[in-house]
Amino acid sequence: MRRFVTILTVLLLLTGCAKQAESHTKDFFAMNTVMSVTVSGENSEEDSLRAMQIVQELDKQWSVTNENSAVYQLNATGTAELSDETAELLRRSLQLKEETGGAFDPTIYQIVKMWGFTTGEYRVPTDVELADALEMHRNSSITLDGNRATVSGCAVDLGAVAKGYTAAKIASELEHADTLNLNLGGNIQLEGTKPDGSPWRVGIKNPENTEEYLGILELESGAVVTSGGYERYFEQDGVRYCHIIDPKTGRPADKGLISVTIVSEDGFLADALSTALYVMGLEEASAFWRGRTDFEAVLVTDAGEIYATEGLQDSFSGCEFQVITR
Ligand code: AMP
Ligand code: MG
Repeated sequence: MRRFVTILTVLLLLTGCAKQAESHTKDFFAMNTVMSVTVSGENSEEDSLRAMQIVQELDKQWSVTNENSAVYQLNATGTAELSDETAELLRRSLQLKEETGGAFDPTIYQIVKMWGFTTGEYRVPTDVELADALEMHRNSSITLDGNRATVSGCAVDLGAVAKGYTAAKIASELEHADTLNLNLGGNIQLEGTKPDGSPWRVGIKNPENTEEYLGILELESGAVVTSGGYERYFEQDGVRYCHIIDPKTGRPADKGLISVTIVSEDGFLADALSTALYVMGLEEASAFWRGRTDFEAVLVTDAGEIYATEGLQDSFSGCEFQVITR
């Protein structure tokens, strides 16, 4: 079985983000992916270091494979006392599970693990194994009483929101910086106005050829998060299995989308919804977007069609696309 792992979902086009103020960049590996943080402003060196520390601290709490993490403890023993922040993230995640009709499901870890995602021990579960796992998941429960989390028949994986939440937290803690440019494994968060007043430009990867851009998004600030089947997958007997699981089937999501990019002021929401809309497929994702006003999206289908929600009509360019209207 061959293993393919590509990490970055989005390439950021940096265009002159430094005024005369100092700018510092830290490149590092955390949360199973490559990250890059650039801060400009008076204390940019200190701030870039702080940004890296924030990621590392949260990674320690949320890793599903590190025995010392709170999430690992919760999954291994069935209960754990969480930090205020982890409890809050889990609470928001469970809320988003409701709002997305279960397409985003932070309690899906047992099924994610069966396929080998996050552990790297890739395999295709048998139909019987999957049916049993789905049955167990249907009967599972999770409770959050204050900061005390308890799971029964399921396990928690915050991997679909951790990077987006973390980027938003860094942005809020380093609000004083002149500009902030975060790429946490393809989760982009941009803050501050560039010296020449021009908007930030973010290239969305072509899911069919990740060396190329599909198009460019311009934005003033906020998060741009892409979920793509190409980010992490394995192949067996000529079939490709991607890391985003449809909680209804227990199998890799297969509703015809190969890349979903969410643009939102809220990094956590952008990350959760990139995963959720990927699972939903074009029609359900479009209907979901019509019911909300807190995000915009670019969707790419397996037929190579590109769709953008109407709020991006003027800020997305570089390719032909169809507009999803309200
Ligand atoms: P993302 O790259 O943000 O789309 O997150 C995908 C990661 O979230 C996977 O690697 C799994 O760890 C986890 N995951 C997979 N499917 C789901 C799902 N339907 N809901 C929530 N998390 C998921
Ligand atoms: Mg996500």
